[in-house]
Amino acid sequence: MKFPIPVAVLGATGSVGQRFVSLLDGHPWFKLVALTGSDRTAGKPFKEGCTWVLNQSMPYQASEILLTTSDSENLNGAAICFSALPADEAKIIEPKMAKAGLVVCSNASAFRTDPDVPLLLPEINPEHIGLVKTQRQIRGWSGAILTNPNCTSTGMTVSLKALNDAIGVKRVFAVSLQALSGAGYPGVSSMDIIDNVIPYIGGEENKVETEPNKMLGKFLDGKILESDIKISAHTNRVAVVDGHTVVLSVDLNSEIPDKDVIEIFANYRAPELAAHLPSSPWPVMVYRNEVNRPQPKLDRDTGKGMTTVIGRVRKDPIFSIKYVTLSHNTIRGAAGGSIYNAELFVDQGLL
Ligand code: NAP
Repeated sequence: MKFPIPVAVLGATGSVGQRFVSLLDGHPWFKLVALTGSDRTAGKPFKEGCTWVLNQSMPYQASEILLTTSDSENLNGAAICFSALPADEAKIIEPKMAKAGLVVCSNASAFRTDPDVPLLLPEINPEHIGLVKTQRQIRGWSGAILTNPNCTSTGMTVSLKALNDAIGVKRVFAVSLQALSGAGYPGVSSMDIIDNVIPYIGGEENKVETEPNKMLGKFLDGKILESDIKISAHTNRVAVVDGHTVVLSVDLNSEIPDKDVIEIFANYRAPELAAHLPSSPWPVMVYRNEVNRPQPKLDRDTGKGMTTVIGRVRKDPIFSIKYVTLSHNTIRGAAGGSIYNAELFVDQGLL
């Protein structure tokens, strides 16, 4: 494969799409060649179709690209497409791309739970990329669909992987405090969220209760054998711009001192398959010793937004331990995660 590899972003004008455009600017392996939007924006230059909301300025090269509809022949020779499409659109568009030979790295929930579709966090389960062979056999396409998890599952699953490998996890009780960018753009109206917490995010609790078990599963004989950790989740929208906090109580297979739990998090390393990739988080997890951290405003950009930040490990009177995780939802939980998946795919010679 010749570098740089041409790539497209589907649904480029939204909350996740903008992150893709920003993170792909100057990427060592990928070159952005196409951007898509809905009928509302297709035909306009990106700088006109997109209401840019990120702190850094819109990359010049992307700003001049004409938005097209999401048809494979419009993608200007892209070999990989990063999908930031809503799930209903993804359900129709992503398989068409894979049939046309493109590799789709998707943020949408449409295919995450399909048994032949990898649900990846390469710092914990890079071997699941092997599922692509099964997928190509079953679906008969030369492309592929890879997915990353729901942005709330991301940080908590990274932490659970370290605990599960070291001691074994039985049960988890999780409460999320989720940022506004997770609801897309323009998302929740200001009148609804200022001075408020919304204790409901459609479909979210089910995702948080199921996706971690797929990711923590074993890849054996071309299939994933899911783990069977019992997870109960409450998901809430809060008035934070970026960064999902999840507070967790976790029941372990055996009791260990808090300081050992902290060491397990701090010493966790990504498997060799994924540790050297350009987007690999370094470190995978950071433990904050201050009693009032992590905080989204202060900690979400740790490790360029790819690191999971953890704090407040302590005994739980009902479960074994409790702690707090923070993960940047549009970087580690979405665009940065998808780009990391694409790097793994390319590095494994699957393109
Ligand atoms: P969003 O801000 O609402 O953006 C949706 C994008 O999809 C817009 O660019 C929109 O384009 C485009 N679109 C809609 N219909 C389309 C069509 N038929 N063809 C092409 N583009 C179309 O949503 P988001 O937050 O970025 O989320 C995108 C996806 O990522 C969703 O599936 C979401 O569940 C998932 N996700 C989001 C996050 C997060 O933190 N936000 C994290 C993980 C996963 P126009 O502007 O042109 O209408």
